[in-house]
Amino acid sequence: MSDTPVIGVLALQGDVREHLIALASADALARPVRRPEELAEVDGLVVPGGESTTISKLAALFGLLEPLRERIGAGMPVYGTCAGMILLADKILDPRSGQETLGGIDMIVRRNAFGRQNESFEAAVEVAGIDGGPVEGVFIRAPWVESVGAGTQVIAEHGGHIVAVRQQNALATSFHPELTGDHRIHAYFTEMVRAVG
Ligand code: GLN
Repeated sequence: MSDTPVIGVLALQGDVREHLIALASADALARPVRRPEELAEVDGLVVPGGESTTISKLAALFGLLEPLRERIGAGMPVYGTCAGMILLADKILDPRSGQETLGGIDMIVRRNAFGRQNESFEAAVEVAGIDGGPVEGVFIRAPWVESVGAGTQVIAEHGGHIVAVRQQNALATSFHPELTGDHRIHAYFTEMVRAVG
């Protein structure tokens, strides 16, 4: 890998464009990934926010479910935001029928956890490993992490709930840094990808 890693954004549904822009600002070569051949060419992958059930059904339809599981299992760096966090969970507390995850992070995630009263909100979130003060957390029908396994590091909490985690090469946030113009988390992920190469 050169100094500029190639980072894909799983482009089946969700806020793909915003992640491509954020990654480019964080000095990565960003590309949409829709097919197994495209997945094979990236050094790391972002799984965007959107609707986790839709993304998992489309991944199955596009023949991407197994290739994604294989690459994540083999240590490809991966970063999931919101629906992407749900997809990276080894277990979902309240899956919709037929909902599958890719897995990769030893955690249990609760979908739409902040409830109807609090569907969308913003909050300053301090994230371990991100210098320069808290990030602006944009939460949109966001999940939270109910519990993590021994190998999973909690890197941010909000209101007593886990909203960001890291397990080796996998990163996940309940919130959407791609919507804020602050690209520190994308830069952090780009650094994770560079470190593997
Ligand atoms: N609630 C959505 C889901 O369950 C996630 C929302 C989001 O990604 N902004 O997939």
